[in-house]
Amino acid sequence: MPLPRIESLKPYVPGLTIDEIRDKYNLRNIIKLASNENPLGASPLVQDAIARYAPFSFRYPQGGNPRLAAAIAARHGVSPRSIAIGNGSDEIIDILIRIFAQSERHNIVCFDPCFSIYPIQATINGNMLRRAPLAEDFTFDFSALLNLVDAATRLVFITTPDNPSGFCPARENIAEFAASLARQAPQAYLVIDEAYMDFAEDEKRLSLLASHNIPANAIFLRTFSKSYGLAGLRLGYAVMPESVADLFWRVRLPFSVNILAEEAGLAALEDEAFRKATLETVSQGRNFLASGLAGLGCTVWPSAANFLLFKLPPGSLAAGQCHEALLKEGIIIRPLGSYGMDDYLRVSVGNPRENGIFLNALAKIIGERSCQSLQ
Ligand SMILES: *Cc1c(COP(=O)(O)O)cnc(C)c1O
Repeated sequence: MPLPRIESLKPYVPGLTIDEIRDKYNLRNIIKLASNENPLGASPLVQDAIARYAPFSFRYPQGGNPRLAAAIAARHGVSPRSIAIGNGSDEIIDILIRIFAQSERHNIVCFDPCFSIYPIQATINGNMLRRAPLAEDFTFDFSALLNLVDAATRLVFITTPDNPSGFCPARENIAEFAASLARQAPQAYLVIDEAYMDFAEDEKRLSLLASHNIPANAIFLRTFSKSYGLAGLRLGYAVMPESVADLFWRVRLPFSVNILAEEAGLAALEDEAFRKATLETVSQGRNFLASGLAGLGCTVWPSAANFLLFKLPPGSLAAGQCHEALLKEGIIIRPLGSYGMDDYLRVSVGNPRENGIFLNALAKIIGERSCQSLQ
């Protein structure tokens, strides 16, 4: 008999893939702006590293990924003993929940809406979920979050910049919340998911990880999936207290990060030129898309990430219809029903060509609709 909580589980809803849409609509050229992937593709240094290490695919990777941990630690100026590495940061989220909160007596606190892996993995592991609504404008109500915390709280998850809104709270506010959490629930850890922090214009000022006073209860999640362009290889990492990292490495399956992903991660950290080009492409593309969407009458939320949250103009078609109409044009963006945000859409920042094609298609779809309503 499966566990009832597993039988009633709603699975993670990923962005549609290019293959799915190609087959369904019989299209040749498809633009995917649904999963916040890198607009420049994979770095040439990464592709070389994968080719060079392909002959070693028959070997097991080295346990504990020590070379990659050292390179990541150097990038952040922390001890290698505080680094955890996983098969995507998704795996790290799951392991943290399993380390700290395996029973129904413990609760996990997060915002609603939030990145759905937190509630899904919490539910799989049998934990009670407590969720504080985001403010109307998608900013964080930290006091509502703190109100949900008690002696049974083990983990609190926040995302900054946030997905799907792009909102980035001031790091002073996060530091204050971490301090309040430490007073109210000294047993709990604050997991700060910074998957998109690289794209924030002023990372040094916005990330607590870059500050001199890292709170003792903070765990920072980062990923190679977005700014480093390795989403398909599955590689994420975290900076955490050494005592927690020690537990992490005992729980993680010994070889969950494969040999090519590890080499790709090392090469990606070396490729400063690619990283710089990515950040510039995203910064310019984000401005271009934000003003283009606003020009079409859409409401666009300010974003520090590589995507934009938007709403169609009042009286225009429904978000779901617009998503379908774009699919027929070969453009995949992200509907947000799985976040409980039926009226909203999220578009990843693509390269200049993709951004232009997307805006033109959207203008056509919105325009056709307003002609129809005049008839
Ligand atoms: C994309 C994303 C991640 C990264 O997940 P990986 O498993 O590392 O690919 C983590 N958190 C959030 C909020 C994300 O949007």
